[in-house]
Amino acid sequence: MSHSLICSRVSLSVRFCFRGILKLHHEKNRIMSSAKLESSIQFLPGIGPKRAIPFANMGIKTIRDMLFYFPARYLDRSTILNSSQLAQFIHEGNDSEVTIIGTVYNKESKRFGGKEILVVNFRDKGGFFEGIWFQGARYHINKFVIGETFAVSGKPAFSKFGNIQFAHPDYDKITEDETQQFYNTGKVLPVYRLPKELRERNIGDMSLRKMATAAVDQYAVYIEETLPRSIIEKYKFLPLSELVRRVHYPASMEEVNDCHGRLKYEELFYLEILIAMRKRNVKEELPGIMFENKTAMIREFMTTLSFELTEAQKKVSREIFRDMLTPKPMNRLLQGDVGSGKTIVALIAMILAVENGYQAVMMAPTEILANQHFLNIIKLIKRYTDAFPERIVNVSLLIGGQKKSVRMEHLNAIATGSSQIVIGTHALFEEEVLFNRLGLVVVDEQHRFGVVQRARLMNKGLNPDVLVMSATPIPRTLSLTVYGDLDNSVIDEMPANRIPIITSLRGESRLPAILEFAKEKIKEGYQTFIVYPLVEESEKLDLKAAEENFSELSATFLQDCRTGLVHGRMKWSEKESIMKKFAEKEFDILFATTVIEVGIDIPDANIIIINEAHRFGLSQLHQLRGRVGRSDKQGYCILVTKDENAAAASRFRGQIDRMPAWMMEKFKSAIRLEAMVQHTDGFKIADIDMKLRGPGDIFGIRQSGYPELKYAVLTEDTEILINAQRDAFEIIAHDPHLQQHQFHPIKSHLRAHYSESLRYAHIA
Ligand code: ADP
Ligand code: MG
Repeated sequence: MSHSLICSRVSLSVRFCFRGILKLHHEKNRIMSSAKLESSIQFLPGIGPKRAIPFANMGIKTIRDMLFYFPARYLDRSTILNSSQLAQFIHEGNDSEVTIIGTVYNKESKRFGGKEILVVNFRDKGGFFEGIWFQGARYHINKFVIGETFAVSGKPAFSKFGNIQFAHPDYDKITEDETQQFYNTGKVLPVYRLPKELRERNIGDMSLRKMATAAVDQYAVYIEETLPRSIIEKYKFLPLSELVRRVHYPASMEEVNDCHGRLKYEELFYLEILIAMRKRNVKEELPGIMFENKTAMIREFMTTLSFELTEAQKKVSREIFRDMLTPKPMNRLLQGDVGSGKTIVALIAMILAVENGYQAVMMAPTEILANQHFLNIIKLIKRYTDAFPERIVNVSLLIGGQKKSVRMEHLNAIATGSSQIVIGTHALFEEEVLFNRLGLVVVDEQHRFGVVQRARLMNKGLNPDVLVMSATPIPRTLSLTVYGDLDNSVIDEMPANRIPIITSLRGESRLPAILEFAKEKIKEGYQTFIVYPLVEESEKLDLKAAEENFSELSATFLQDCRTGLVHGRMKWSEKESIMKKFAEKEFDILFATTVIEVGIDIPDANIIIINEAHRFGLSQLHQLRGRVGRSDKQGYCILVTKDENAAAASRFRGQIDRMPAWMMEKFKSAIRLEAMVQHTDGFKIADIDMKLRGPGDIFGIRQSGYPELKYAVLTEDTEILINAQRDAFEIIAHDPHLQQHQFHPIKSHLRAHYSESLRYAHIA
């Protein structure tokens, strides 16, 4: 028994030792091979020192760079037709892209009404076809040499004279050998982006293909793996060196797709690793506040509230409490559609902080909104402290436009700690604001409490819990990426008393009837917002629209109604008094620019008329609509636009959900309007908005300090994103410093390629 134990110990230690040597050996190999990849491309056949220069200018300096200069597209044998097949293809009314290979036998540029037009004639085994260029004739004519062979891709049609014709096609020169290979093996041919620098040095498509091939043949084997083995096995990915080989010479388009699958995954995986590290940094490495579970005040407060919380409000409150009661800093996003009741949830969390002896602040994006929260919260707190006189809760307001004396008074109360709840705009985080004991920051209607703001607070020695509230629903893809470092709570239910808002779209010629409707409704106690767009570049002009309409309509059509005007250029005191009068029902119709967009809560204002609605973004329209329907009365949102826009939009009635993305893209502004008529659910609206805006950096990935995406498209690759997110978060939870041997590829790849973002992750 003891003998066998010793034995196994010995063999174990031998094995460890052996493994150590092996590891060393691997390490040495790795370093040597990576050195090979870092050597200059001038050592590749056909390049040399002179030709290396234009490559260097386009960022290809090392052999590694060359290996990772992937084809921009591929010519696929399976979509290649000959000219007789092409004729058939056009006759059948097909409208897709095809490729045909032909040899140039004539080229001619003709002047036609002051314009130069180029026609190039090609021949293949089955017949003839031509390419035609109405622009850049001079540029293109030199690309074609009689007797050379090209792969021509585009949408074919018959010309006036019945010839097969491609207008402005893509074309790539290929050799006779490549053509044969193409026809015989059915291969896929890579096409590289060929910048001017290379062309000018007489490096063409073919030579570039040869260089890439040479690099792959000699060096692809030395490429180190960048994903852990477990991941590669899980998804049956190609090992990276094999991927690089195939991506340059794929046997089929399926292989290309396989390669791209891994490239997309890998890119998203590293993005998620960075997010997971950033999130962990905030959570684990910074000391936060641990509130105690003191809820007497909350319970008292709830008895003074005029309504019951919805189940959803209760659920998110529990999630917030759970965070606050742990010593880790809270970094939570609270989502809920406009009118779902986020403010009260925030106030309850603030009361928990107060009972624990901390201060809580709420930051709003505009002075009007900050002031509204202030008035609203004072009202609720007053009702509470009237019922429980032994409780003292002081509330301060801090905004830019305040009188100096008022501001000083508040600053003082904040510094001494006598103010426990502070409401304000970004002025809250200015240098001169000193908190006595800040424990909770609530950020309303702003999409990010930035890294910068947190850093600024931490410089003041504070690391409060943070709750970010947003009414703009954040699609899944975004909550996994840009917002991936936040925990997520969703209020997915409206207070029970709500009736869905009626939204209609009307042409401008209907304005008199619309105003008549608003006038009629005054008798039932309704108030109305009339909104005019404010676009930066013509701020004055738009302001004029609001002002002019206000004075004109007030004097004529609405002369027997009480009207008011509010806009962004007014002094704070003016804005404040107008909003106060409107809230107190001193007048019925408020003309406004978009200063009222966010958060405003005036329950009796139940009609909103939005002029020039086509000029607003979709989420902006949804926010504006959210100003009404905030009570048990029927709310109305009337979108007004040019008559022809209204007619155009109505053509899409009932069709948006089935529309392909390209079509939505094409009719953007009509779709936005129609989407508002069809949908009231904010998540649905956000979804459509994302489709309309299309891919690109609309997500602010770069602004949040993460690397840009090259292969993955967030709107399309959601499933890959979800997998990558789960895998990356599991790994970081398991081994935050990536110390396990199996995760070394991640560690070294991060160091080599993501050092910028990594630094950011640490700041966060
Ligand atoms: P938002 O989520 O858009 O910020 P608010 O917090 O401003 O919404 O709430 C909208 C309105 O609904 C307010 O007037 C608020 O008092 C009211 N409200 C909030 N919660 C409830 C509830 N559970 N039942 C009824 N009314 C509620
Ligand atoms: Mg709100």
